[in-house]
Formats: sequence, C-alpha cells, structure tokens
Amino acid sequence: MQLKVVKFGGSSLADAEQFRKVASIIKADPARRYVIPSAPGKRFSDDVKVTDMLYNCYEMVKRGEDIDEYFGQIEKRYCEIISDLGLDFDISGELTYVKNALRHRSGRDFAASRGEYLNGLILAKYLKFDFIDAENVILFKENGTFDPDKTNEVLRAELAQHKRAVIPGFYGVMPNGTIKTFSRGGSDITGSIVARACSADLYENWTDVDGFKMADPRVIDNPCTIETITYRELRELSYMGATVLHEDAIFPVRFANIPINIKNTNDPSKRGTMIVPSTSDYNTDKVITGIAGKAGFSVITIEKDMMNAELGFGRKVLEVLEDNEISFEHLPSGIDTMCVVVSSAAIADKKEKLLATMQRRVRPDTITITDGIALLAVVGRGMVKAKGTAARVLNAASKAGVNIRMIDQGSSELNIIIGIDEDDLKKAHVAIYNEFVK
Ligand code: ASP
Repeated sequence: MQLKVVKFGGSSLADAEQFRKVASIIKADPARRYVIPSAPGKRFSDDVKVTDMLYNCYEMVKRGEDIDEYFGQIEKRYCEIISDLGLDFDISGELTYVKNALRHRSGRDFAASRGEYLNGLILAKYLKFDFIDAENVILFKENGTFDPDKTNEVLRAELAQHKRAVIPGFYGVMPNGTIKTFSRGGSDITGSIVARACSADLYENWTDVDGFKMADPRVIDNPCTIETITYRELRELSYMGATVLHEDAIFPVRFANIPINIKNTNDPSKRGTMIVPSTSDYNTDKVITGIAGKAGFSVITIEKDMMNAELGFGRKVLEVLEDNEISFEHLPSGIDTMCVVVSSAAIADKKEKLLATMQRRVRPDTITITDGIALLAVVGRGMVKAKGTAARVLNAASKAGVNIRMIDQGSSELNIIIGIDEDDLKKAHVAIYNEFVK
C-alpha cells in the first residue's frame, strides 16, 4: 500500500469547519497515515494567527504585563474548535499548563510551539490517530541547527510503532530538553522530515492555494498554476521569494527523492503542483516554468585595467566580503570589471568600511555601490532545449522600457536572472510573463 505524509497549514485548521474538510481529505485515502498540523491560522483576513498571539503573550510577560485576558482569546479558539466539532475532549488542563509556563517565562520558542502542540492534540483526538509529540522525535543540535541524521533514526523507529499518527509541526527539542522551533512556516519542514523518515511515496502539503503560480499573484492577475516543477527549479523560485512552501522543506524529501504535491484544502479536486526530482521523466515542452522577482539588492562594481591578468583579484574581493560576514548573491563579471550583487540590508551599515577595505586590498581604478536593484529570475528546465530564450526575455523587457543593468545566465541553463531598477520590477515581470505565458 502507498504511504503518504500530509501536512495542513494554519488556514486549513483555523476552525471546526476547516477541521472537517481536513478529516474528510484524510479519510478519503487510507494511504494518508501521518499528519502534520500547523497552529490555527487566520479565519478571515484581519484575524490573528495563534502563533502570533503566543509570541505576543511571550512579549507581554517579558514586559511584566498580565496575560490572563489575552491568553483567554487563545483558549477560546481551541475550545470553540472542540465544541463545534462536538468532540468529547477536555483540553483545559493543557491550556492551564501552557498559560502557567508562559507566565513563568518559559522560552520564546516554547511559547510559539504550543500552537501546533495543542492543535495536534485536538486533531489526533478527532481523527482517532495516535499523537507523537515532536519534542521526542525532532532533534536539534547543541548549536541550534536541526540534526537530520539522529532525527531520521529516532523518528523512523517511532513511526514504525504507529499505523496512523499526528505529529505537530514547527518544533523539536534541543539536547538539553528545551523546545526549539524552526523559522516561521516551519511545519512544512516537519512534514518533509517525517516523509523522509517513513520513506513515504508522496508528501502532500495542503494549503489554501491551488499550488505554485507561474508568477507573483500580487503582480499578475490570476497567473497560471504550475503543474510540475523540479526541486531545483523550485529552489530558484523560492530563493527569489515565491513563498508557498518553506525554502528548507525541500531538502529532506529531495534527499530521499520523494515528490511533494501542493494541494488546496478548500478545493481538493484540483491537481495542485507536483514538485519532483530533476530527472528526464519530467521533461516539459514549456520553455519557462515560473518567474519570480525580488527587490532590495545592491551592486558593488569594481573596475581595474588588466584585472583579468591579476592573480587572486576575485578571491581578495570576496575575502573582504567574507571578513565582513556578507554573503554574495551573484557575480556577473567582465574582463576588467567585477560586479558583486549583495543584499542591501546586509551592507547597509558597512558601506564605508567595505569601500575603504576594498581600496586597500585590490587597489581598483573605480569602485561604486548602486542600491535600489531588483533581480528577476526566469526559471525553466525547458530552456536548455529552447533557442532564443534570453533574447525573448531581453526583448520583452526592452519593449516595456526596462533598462537591464545586469544579466546572469547560470551554466545549467535553468534560469536567466536580470538585474533592473527596483521601480521597473513590476513592468518587467508583466512583460516577461506575457511574452512566455499569454
Ligand atoms: N505556526 C507557525 C507559523 O505561523 C509554523 C507554521 O505554520 O508552519 O509560522
């Protein structure tokens, strides 16, 4: 029999009605055996996620404020879900315990993690599945990073004891027993880790959209949904800000070659987006898979005659960045020029120092820093076979009156990245989408 791991996001579990949808999805397919819930998310657009309320509680305690009334709203959300589902489940002891722990200044991560923990308890009860507390099976290292090998071993052994189980997302435990969370949206990562540990056939990630869109829906009205995307393409797009899935959720399943299916809890009949390994089984006749853009970059441009003949020039430039703990994003270069694209936020208060050190280390003819740059990535595994893709990208941008400041085509021919003025980002996005998709 097939085995599927299913993760449901916060809006999929925001209230009893959503819980019912989730249960009917799970019951519709006996392969859906391991379930990873988020904390209750927004029920309407200006609602507050339970995770955010828990962070607020933590801050209130830190400021010495009383959380009784505010925590009451969290209690109400869980109690409403239980009573609206008609569940015979008394969660009051758990809620009191959490409130007291918050009052006694338990850590910030502990506070945030309780959203998933409590939702997991309710969901397990409702589905009549076992409950596996993530604090026993998702393990972090001393330095605060996730421990994939140890977790895989412990989790695999634990899952083998349970035919069907709910494992709350987002958190795990440090070697000293304290609770540690992933970064925001981290339940996606838990789902991926569980899928790897039980060698699932499929990791289904249920959310409130039909899947990944070919372009940013805030820029393009109702863009097409991507049917199939490879892990590598997705990595390029999520690096640029496409945010349906947590960036780090790709790694565990990619390691085990398990496909991910992004699905819509509110419209389960839609196919959603399949995220698959980069193999020839998934060839496509589409030239591009998606477009994503991101503002907030700066370009450090360094010019020096005969740079190409100067041994170690590039290394010295990058060393200056490394010494200042700045990582670079791209490195498009000419014969006597070198451009380093970095995040503007990363260099904001280090500009003077950087310029001075560069002067000393590499003695350039000129060096400038230009802020206000956006990057737009056009990504597609179909590009390798299609001739003239770069020309089409540049043409579309130029017809829209967009000045291209930098071009970077990776040698894998998986993407073309253009650097443009931030003000032109929307225009370029629309022009390139229309060129390839419309
Ligand atoms: N509840 C957490 C958050 O809001 C984690 C998650 O939903 O994945 O970030």
